[in-house]
Amino acid sequence: MTDSHKIKQPPDTQELDSILRSSKLVSGGFMGTDQRSYEKVIQSDAADIACTGKTITDIVARMRDISALAERGLGANVTINENIQASATDTRGKIPCPWQHPGLFKKTVTTVKRLNADTILHWSDLSIHLIEKHGFFQGYGSPFRLAPKELVQIIFPA
Ligand SMILES: [Zn+2]
Repeated sequence: MTDSHKIKQPPDTQELDSILRSSKLVSGGFMGTDQRSYEKVIQSDAADIACTGKTITDIVARMRDISALAERGLGANVTINENIQASATDTRGKIPCPWQHPGLFKKTVTTVKRLNADTILHWSDLSIHLIEKHGFFQGYGSPFRLAPKELVQIIFPA
């Protein structure tokens, strides 16, 4: 997936909402149990990001770095810094962007574990794309929901 790809015919709001809530692409859908519209989710998370002092660009760059390091572990935990470890699970298969960008995203899941705390985050290549291109961190209750403030706290060194 490169930045040269353009959205051909973006689905309309209602269509997109139903795609995001369907569990056809990912188990439970991208919205989880969230009753808000996906636009509200995006707005609310954008406000949270603004409070963190980091930009979407900072966040996705850091996520990609962590995923690249984790993939070198071939499934084992890799120490990222004194606070976190990460591992990558190479789940076969690819999935499309619900906004219907051309191209498919690897299902490889990066798991980040904060040491000395029970916090675990998961993301896939698609999660990174959804954040980067759509500002979409997924709905409450989605297994891949990344609360922006928590994400920033965990992935950036203190
Ligand atoms: Zn997309």
